[in-house]
Amino acid sequence: MTAPAAGVGTEALARALTKALGPRSANALAKLGLETVGDLVDHVPRRYDQPGRLTDLRSLQVGEHVTVLARVDSATVTTMRSRHGAMLNAVVTDGAGQLDLTFFAKGKGGLRHHEHQLAAGRTGLFTGTVGVYRGRRQLTHPQYQVFGAGTGVDEAEAALEDASKPIPIYPAGASIASWQIHKAVRTVLEPLREADVPDPLPEELCARRGLRTRLEALRDVHVPAVDADWRRGRERLRFEEAFVLQAALAQRRAAVAREPATARPLPPPGSPSLLADFDAALPFELTGGQRDVGEQLARDLAADRPMQRLLQGEVGSGKTVVALRAMLQVVDAGGQAALLAPTEVLAAQHARSLRALLGPLAEGGLLGGADHGTRVALLTGSLGAAARKQALLDAASGAAGIVVGTHALLGEQVQFADLGLVVVDEQHRFGVEQRDALRAKGDRQAHVLVMTATPIPRTVAMTVFGDLETAMLTEVPAGRPGIVTHVVPASKPAWVARTWQRVREEVDAGHRAYVVAPRIHPDPEGRQAGGVAETDDVLEFLDEAGDGVERAPLRAVLEVVEELGRTPALAGVDVGVLHGQLPPAEKDRAMADFASGRTPVLVSTTVVEVGVDVAEATVMVVLDADRFGISQLHQLRGRVGRGTAPGLCLLVSDAEPGTPAHERLDALASTSDGFELARRDLELRREGDVLGAAQSGRASSLRLLRVLTDAGLIADARTEATAVVEQDPDLAEHPSLAAAIADRLDPEREEFLERA
Ligand code: ADP
Ligand code: MG
Repeated sequence: MTAPAAGVGTEALARALTKALGPRSANALAKLGLETVGDLVDHVPRRYDQPGRLTDLRSLQVGEHVTVLARVDSATVTTMRSRHGAMLNAVVTDGAGQLDLTFFAKGKGGLRHHEHQLAAGRTGLFTGTVGVYRGRRQLTHPQYQVFGAGTGVDEAEAALEDASKPIPIYPAGASIASWQIHKAVRTVLEPLREADVPDPLPEELCARRGLRTRLEALRDVHVPAVDADWRRGRERLRFEEAFVLQAALAQRRAAVAREPATARPLPPPGSPSLLADFDAALPFELTGGQRDVGEQLARDLAADRPMQRLLQGEVGSGKTVVALRAMLQVVDAGGQAALLAPTEVLAAQHARSLRALLGPLAEGGLLGGADHGTRVALLTGSLGAAARKQALLDAASGAAGIVVGTHALLGEQVQFADLGLVVVDEQHRFGVEQRDALRAKGDRQAHVLVMTATPIPRTVAMTVFGDLETAMLTEVPAGRPGIVTHVVPASKPAWVARTWQRVREEVDAGHRAYVVAPRIHPDPEGRQAGGVAETDDVLEFLDEAGDGVERAPLRAVLEVVEELGRTPALAGVDVGVLHGQLPPAEKDRAMADFASGRTPVLVSTTVVEVGVDVAEATVMVVLDADRFGISQLHQLRGRVGRGTAPGLCLLVSDAEPGTPAHERLDALASTSDGFELARRDLELRREGDVLGAAQSGRASSLRLLRVLTDAGLIADARTEATAVVEQDPDLAEHPSLAAAIADRLDPEREEFLERA
């Protein structure tokens, strides 16, 4: 952890809990990762129980660690003949359900204290792990606190008063109960004064937005008198969390923007240029959006500070062309451009289509090449030694104006003569560090353009890609016939047969069909062992689906290929195979054969997910579709309906209607709006706290922010934070904010900037 900035009054917060509370409580709290007063006051209640409203005991799950508010019905002490001991059995109730509390002792004397406390009719909080004994749910040796059990009148009154306030329920553990945490928090909070609790939010901002101080907010969440208090406190802490993060991102943006970059302006009109030739050769008109974004990028590149842009767009909106035009502008201005793709298939496709589009322009330096031509180099991990050497040479000498590659581009041996622009396609597979590594390959900062694979909600862009400015492509090229999506129940043979029949019809019409399966090898042992999934995404969903429900093994590419060979509807149709374990040459051939129509059906893993572009493809069949995420499926179906014929996406699944898995598929079938789907994806996957997950390494993290529900707040915080950083880039006049950024964000900085 970074030391707090000098002059910020954090001494009181840095105080060790061993000193503030004594070793016993401190040790118990240390097990939750809480070491200092500051840690403890930032340990915010998870929820609040209503005073006087008892917890629904019938809803308790066995094995769950719970804190319940309940009333004691009865308490009986018995001696146990067999075990030479005594047992106290109390029954507590919420009016409807019951729960047993069990205590054991050597003799009756050892139970006297509990017997006294647990008098019938008293209400209290009980904490423990729910167990079962003879069919009844029980807590064994629960920790508890009953109200009105103190000996003094004052104490009883205080307890009663407490019981009339919202009851904070803290993230607790076996070592310490929620109310003990509450008591500890109150003890350390009580003596704190405003000067002890530095506030990252500037005073002026608080006054203008009617926000209370940080100390007031902490009192609101820890010792609320009424519900409105903790709501107000939480809102304030959420804003603070968003503000600190956005200030950090604004600083990052500002720091990069201060570095000099080489301006790569457009050449004067009429002079020979790759870009002009490329535009003239384009087989279509640019959409309005492509033109607007293109102009924006042209301006960015003409500036002598680095471009830092995120290009968001609907699947099929034509982001690649926009990126290529930016790259050509840089090459025309004497620089080089690097295009970073997530897979070899995609890198090869980009290189191929670039060369095709540029024609003789891509044969710079070769006989017959254009004078102002350049070369497109392809650099991937699996290149042969000679090809690799040539590509490295072309990049280092500058002979290649455009270098396309996978993460192999990041390697130390890769050097550029004058790297001017880095384009990261389908960013979700690359982190900020990799982006930085590539950017740093130039003498000066390169311009950077990042493209997302699918649209993402605005506030996710603001947090996950918060260091970039956004440009959007919302329209897809006119004349696209659209895609129809259906869910096909795997359990209905007639429907499945119809699916292959439809594939046949498309093939007969001269079109192509993708068939995607979640894994490569058939797996006789079920989904647990043996088979290899293609991507982490799929693995993630496999884990998520580990719900104990018996399901058929996942479909495998190699098995599906054989099966299609036996399917009458597809008799005589050549079927190709593509997956990540194939040697690169075979991958290339599989794609080329599919594109040319030699094998009009391609069975593959999700390697075709991102960016693969075959205009004649009209059908996308996804097997075990429920095992994929919404955005992933949206990407997959974006592979079809790219030409003039309409696309058809068939999601084959054995998911039961009404399950979350089936909901995902229904969502897809019901809309083609990528932004809407991205929002639902987040909702369904409960990935709402992008930040929370990123900060979970720290005990002090608030984790109150939700990127979806707090969208407005995050946008406000971004505006405010950007204004503060613009006017005070080093935060010299905002020491508390600077300290908060260092303290809260540094440990996870890489992690949270990397998450995508
Ligand atoms: P994405 O935004 O999903 O990456 P691509 O860049 O792969 O989309 O473009 C999808 C397809 O649309 C490509 O075949 C591309 O050549 C084509 N395309 C791009 N722009 C236009 C346009 N303005 N008019 C017609 N087709 C276009
Ligand atoms: Mg693309």
